[in-house]
Amino acid sequence: MKKYDIGIDLGGTKVLCAIVEKESHKVLFEVKKKTKKEKGNKKIIQKLFEALDELFDISNIKKEDIESISIAAAGQINRKEGILLNGCNSGVKDLNLKEIFEEKYNIKTNLFNDVEAASIAELMLGAGVDNKNILCIFIGTGIGSSIVIDRKIYHGSTGCAGEIGHTIIDKNGRACACGGFGCLEAYASRSAIEARIQGLVKKGKKTIITELNDKQNISTKHIKTALDAHDEVTMMCVGEAIEYLSCAIASALNFLNPDLVILGGGLIQGIDEFYLKTVKLTKTKALPLAVEHVEFKKALLGDYSGVVGAVLAKDYYNVK
Ligand SMILES: [Zn+2]
Repeated sequence: MKKYDIGIDLGGTKVLCAIVEKESHKVLFEVKKKTKKEKGNKKIIQKLFEALDELFDISNIKKEDIESISIAAAGQINRKEGILLNGCNSGVKDLNLKEIFEEKYNIKTNLFNDVEAASIAELMLGAGVDNKNILCIFIGTGIGSSIVIDRKIYHGSTGCAGEIGHTIIDKNGRACACGGFGCLEAYASRSAIEARIQGLVKKGKKTIITELNDKQNISTKHIKTALDAHDEVTMMCVGEAIEYLSCAIASALNFLNPDLVILGGGLIQGIDEFYLKTVKLTKTKALPLAVEHVEFKKALLGDYSGVVGAVLAKDYYNVK
């Protein structure tokens, strides 16, 4: 039996490739590449090949010992065909990753959505191993989530169940990346906080975050530093985001009545206060019966949620 799988996490700003040991699901070797400048099918493929070739080099593991390449990608996918239909922030469109990888490496390749992969990782190995009905929410650049019912991921009739990020919280609200208006993601994600701070700066508000970020994107680290320094603008924008987020999670608790909520993603992992305040506020907003026995936990897989999750997703769906 082959001893390893390769997991690939294709996000909006980075590619992480890893050799994952089959039995232990441990990451043995990894290669990480930034893709901030690389956009579009050609450049992303080039970057992926570069990372994977480097992984083979540093690990000294032969292709013959690898059972599969499992990819977790941010964006909409066609899982059956292995096509990334629309990659979030990577500019990728209709890219048949399965075909391209199988042709180049001659290793079976599968494609999953990154939120789905991260949720499966939490369900099988992480914070959700002991629970039945779970809501997994990842708050980072965007907001993704999954619904687990009786330990199975619920996909809905067309596969888009669990899109909590597109819960409409303001009928005349801000434009969202999905084309709609007033979605949670436009209020409570990192990019929403970033846009809100930048808007206030344009209006003349003073914040230390402009000194921290050197006119680059405002990262979770910048937000954390500004919060630690009690920067008023940042505190207000983050406070607003938490208000909106807790409204949406409380509504989801009332609607689904899960026994566990797993929170993950950059803002949760990077800013403890963001996690604690979200949990506290959610509990005050949901129905008492929905809150009574629900647990809140942080996601445990962290940076490896994509690479390990993709490998676990392959076993979860039993794809050969
Ligand atoms: Zn939306």
